Amino acid sequence: MAEASLPKKSLPKINKVDEPYWKGAAAGKLLLQKCKACGKLQFFPRVVCVDCFSGDIEWIEAKGTGKVHTFSWVRVPRNPAFKEDVPICYINVILDEGIIMESRLVGDSK
Ligand SMILES: [Zn+2]
Repeated sequence: MAEASLPKKSLPKINKVDEPYWKGAAAGKLLLQKCKACGKLQFFPRVVCVDCFSGDIEWIEAKGTGKVHTFSWVRVPRNPAFKEDVPICYINVILDEGIIMESRLVGDSK
């Protein structure tokens, strides 16, 4: 017997600043912002560089490699929309570019 339909997972509200990031993600690319003035990389997307406040920012593709700094298993979803996804391995990664980001480990993680 089919279970009652689950609530929908929320999607990000894309804006002008982070639109390139989401378009890259849709194409399978991990994009980071790079300040043309000072060379600093940053994530998440912002209007200006957090280091020198320059608005002269470009997008670069990350290598997609890094090290897992820490992780946590989510076995009980706070949002019922993720009921069928658990257990989820939530990770904190230090990209080879030096950026720290959170993600979900996908693949054979169960
Ligand atoms: Zn800068």
